[in-house]
Amino acid sequence: MVKIRKSDHILEIAYSCVRWFLLVTTSYVYLNYYYSASQSLSLFWSMLAVAILYMGTTEVALHFTSIASSFYRTVTRLGVVMDYFSFIAIIALTDGTHSPLLPIGYLVILHASLYWSFRGSMVATGMIIIGYCFIVVLVDGGFRIDDLPRHFFNFAFLLMFGFIGGILVARERKHFVEKGIFENLAKQDYLTGLYNHRSFQEHIREAISSKQPVTLLMGDIDYFKQINDRYGHQAGDTVLREIGSLLETSIPSTQGRAFRYGGEEFAIIFYTDSQDKATELYHVFLDKLRAKVFEHGKDAFQVTMSFGAALRDRGQGKSELVAAADKLLYEAKTHGKNQLLWARTEGMK
Ligand code: GH3
Ligand code: MG
Ligand code: MG
Repeated sequence: MVKIRKSDHILEIAYSCVRWFLLVTTSYVYLNYYYSASQSLSLFWSMLAVAILYMGTTEVALHFTSIASSFYRTVTRLGVVMDYFSFIAIIALTDGTHSPLLPIGYLVILHASLYWSFRGSMVATGMIIIGYCFIVVLVDGGFRIDDLPRHFFNFAFLLMFGFIGGILVARERKHFVEKGIFENLAKQDYLTGLYNHRSFQEHIREAISSKQPVTLLMGDIDYFKQINDRYGHQAGDTVLREIGSLLETSIPSTQGRAFRYGGEEFAIIFYTDSQDKATELYHVFLDKLRAKVFEHGKDAFQVTMSFGAALRDRGQGKSELVAAADKLLYEAKTHGKNQLLWARTEGMK
C-alpha cells in the first residue's frame, strides 16, 4: 500500500489548481483558435461537464475528507487516469501532435510517478506514447517521413523525462523511508527496544507544551548490581530486555509510554492527571513483573522495582516534574524498596 504523505497532499492541491487553470485556458484556446464552425461542439461540452464534475469531486476529497480515507485515495489515484484521457482528448482537439498543449503529458507522467514511483512513471510514459501514436494516425493523418524527426524527438523527450523523473521520485521515496528508519533508531534504546532518554526528554516536553495531562513514574530495579555480580552482565542485560518488554506490553500507546531512562532506570509517562487511573495502569505492569520468573541455568529468581511518581501540577516544568518523581524514587529506595511512592503535591486528586 502506498502511504499518503502531507507533501503528497500539498502536491495534489497543486495539481488540482493546475487542472482548473488548464481547463480555463485550454477551453479558451480551443474555442478561439481550433474550433471551426463545421465541427460539432458536443464532444467539447461533454468533456467539459465530465471534467468539472470530476474536479469538483476532487475538491471535496481534498478539502473535506481525511487523507487516510478510501474516498480520498480513490479520487486522487483516479485523477491520474482522468488526466491521461483528458490529455489525449485535448491534444486531439487542438491540432493533434502539433498542439502547443503537448507538454501536459509531462505533468501526467509526474502525477503517475507520485503514486507508483518509477513503475508508474514508465507505464504513464508508455501510455502517452501509445496515445500519441493513435493521435498521429487518427488526427494527423498518419506518420509522414518529413515529420519523423519531430516524432522521434517527442518520443525521446517523453522517454527521457519518464525515466529520469521516475528515478528521481523513486530515490526520494527511498530516502524518505530510510529517514523514517533512522529517526526511529535515534529514538530507540538498543538493548530494551524501548524509547530512549533523548526521546523521553522530547516526549515530556511535547506533552507539557501541548497541555496534555501528565503523570510521571521514575523506576529503578532493586539490587540490580547483585544480579550482575551473581549471574554476569549478560544475564543483567536479559533482565533489562525482559522488563522493557513487560513495560511495552503493559502500556497501551493511547494511555502512556515507557522509556529506558538510563542504566537500570525506567521512566513511564501516563497521559492522565488522576492518581487512581495512573495507579490502575501501573498495576497492569506490576502484576506482570510479580509473575515474572527469570531463569539462569538452574537458578530461578525474581526482580522487584521501586518507583517514585508525580502528577504534573499546572505550571510545573519538565525538570521540576522529573526532580519530584526522582525524589520519591529515592525515598522508596531508602524506605525498603519494592514500592511506589506518590509525591504529595497540592493539586493532587
Ligand atoms: P538499588 O537497589 O539501590 O537500586 O541498587 P542497585 O544494585 O540496583 O543499583 P546500583 O546503582 O548500585 O547498580 C546499578 C547497576 O546497574 C550498576 C551497573 O553496572 C548496572 N548497569 C547499568 N546499565 C547496565 C546495562 O546496560 N547492563 C547491565 N548488565 N548492567 C547495567
Ligand atoms: Mg537499582
Ligand atoms: Mg539505579
